[in-house]
Amino acid sequence: MAHAVVIGSGAGASVAAMVLAESHWDVTILEKGPNYFTNLTEALPTTLFSNDELKHDRHFAKADPDEEPRVYRSSSTDPEPYTGLVQSLPQTVGGGTVHWDAKTPRYWDIDFSKRSMLGPQPGASVIDWPATYQEMAPYYEEIETLIGVAGDVDALPAEPTLAHAPRTGPLPMPGGPPMYASLVAAGGCTALGFHPFQVPMAINSRNYDGRPACNDCGFCSGYGCPIVARVGALAPLRRALVAGAELRPMSTVTDIHVSGRRARAVTYLDEGGNPHRQSADLVVLGAGAIESARLALVADLPDPHRVAGHFVMFHWFTDASGIFLSERLHAHRGRALTHDMDDFADPDFPGAAAAAKVAGLPYLRGGTVELGGSEFPLDEAAVYQELLGLVAPDKPFGSAFKQLMRASLLRDRLCGITLVGEDLPYYSNVVDLDPSLRDWRGVPVPRITYGPGTHEITAQAFYMPKLRAILQAAGADVVTVISELPSDRFPISSGSVPDTEHVMGGMRMGVDPRASVTDGTGRHHHLDNLVVSDGSLFPTSGGHNPTLTIMAMALRNARLWP
Ligand SMILES: Cc1cc2nc3c(=O)[nH]c(=O)nc-3n(C[C@H](O)[C@H](O)[C@H](O)COP(=O)(O)OP(=O)(O)OC[C@H]3O[C@@H](n4cnc5c(N)ncnc54)[C@H](O)[C@@H]3O)c2cc1C
Repeated sequence: MAHAVVIGSGAGASVAAMVLAESHWDVTILEKGPNYFTNLTEALPTTLFSNDELKHDRHFAKADPDEEPRVYRSSSTDPEPYTGLVQSLPQTVGGGTVHWDAKTPRYWDIDFSKRSMLGPQPGASVIDWPATYQEMAPYYEEIETLIGVAGDVDALPAEPTLAHAPRTGPLPMPGGPPMYASLVAAGGCTALGFHPFQVPMAINSRNYDGRPACNDCGFCSGYGCPIVARVGALAPLRRALVAGAELRPMSTVTDIHVSGRRARAVTYLDEGGNPHRQSADLVVLGAGAIESARLALVADLPDPHRVAGHFVMFHWFTDASGIFLSERLHAHRGRALTHDMDDFADPDFPGAAAAAKVAGLPYLRGGTVELGGSEFPLDEAAVYQELLGLVAPDKPFGSAFKQLMRASLLRDRLCGITLVGEDLPYYSNVVDLDPSLRDWRGVPVPRITYGPGTHEITAQAFYMPKLRAILQAAGADVVTVISELPSDRFPISSGSVPDTEHVMGGMRMGVDPRASVTDGTGRHHHLDNLVVSDGSLFPTSGGHNPTLTIMAMALRNARLWP
């Protein structure tokens, strides 16, 4: 039996492992992180998660920045590179989908055919995907059924997704209970003539596939689900294991051995740092966008046109927060949020074309707007403790602290909304290897150089006031707007390091080997038996949360392999 080694067990890798194992490949899955589940072959795996808010900031899921830092620069001339956590996705069995909040919108037709439908953008390398939306629609439907997406298709706005290839039936479950804060923000959208809707989410709203309905505990985004109402990549992983795949957690691949046009084996380190060599007839690189590019560079995979690591994309997020003094919104309960608004994802949004023209751009695109959400209790407490520590360093807690927690401006009275803006693929946005820094295993750490272009700066400036207007129309007493893009190039910023957790590109698909790393199925242009299966394949970033598309593309590609 031919042997496939799958590197990673996240969104893209698990789908590839499932297809290969069910096609009678002997599959070994090498996953860097620990396994927080037992009996993964059961419909309802046993999880070691509780309401793990105390673990949130203790590197429970993400890398310890002292052991495995990354380096970030806003440009190649950035005088002060940052070293620490940069776009770190959880490193566990199941990858990023163990701690995600599972919003699962589909991409639009223009996302797959951007170059054909919208044309080029100056300075960016906008290319079409290898499949159109119509070709992707059946794969979307299969993944929605596999991971259990809840929502009402009829309530979605008449986006290109529905107009061009409607589902053949309803989503597997109705949507979960709407959150009040999401409804309040949606009310602000409606008052301004926009079109909010309940966003499909891969969280059970009723018993599905042997797993229970979400109990709205509130610790969703960033937390492992204690009742496994949210399953993500564990669903395809389960099928892979049932079909005979072997999962080896705490196994970090550090090298891929190549001769001629073939990958022959990988080296991985076990928990104790002991090296092992695993031979392979097929190597599937699914370590997530940054780590896949890093491995390709560490292993020195053939790259005659120096494309590997380039065109990395993160989405630009712009957050607006409204404080409602007269009522409690309790947005910290329930799912992360329940509603979205897609008007800003449409390049035909009124005024966008004119704003683009002024900036010398052919078009302008924002992205979806997530409606509702606030701080978790411990995060709120940390802010108050820090504030009080400034005025009374000896009394950061005490009655003032309790009063602030009871008033709860940042948790119970806050409604946050986030614009998930499309960032275009720029060659200068790149993952390479830091020339001097190595992680505790001795492997060079990834260095990420990422900054916005004219498109992103113009789009953010155009949409930012509209976010403020939504919250004002919703009745907020105080509104702030901040961006998660590097501060030196943007009007306002919440930090200097990108941390959007949407990580795409670096090993992108394409027909032209001079401008892409893999062909249209994720197969390496210069290696016949090395394929990529994760977010690194994205040629463009779209204006929506990427993971449903990562999984649907992985499914399509794996079905087209040998
Ligand atoms: C808090 C949070 C909320 C999110 N919410 C959403 C959301 O609502 N909707 C959405 O679409 N997306 C969301 N995301 C993003 C989502 O998690 C990612 O898009 C997705 O997981 C990326 O899939 P991937 O296959 O590219 O990589 P991953 O899922 O990150 O999988 C990569 C795997 O490879 C492993 N690995 C890395 N290096 C090695 C190595 N050298 N050897 C072996 N294994 C290795 C990693 O440990 C990991 O398990 C969220 C993420 C977070 C953290």
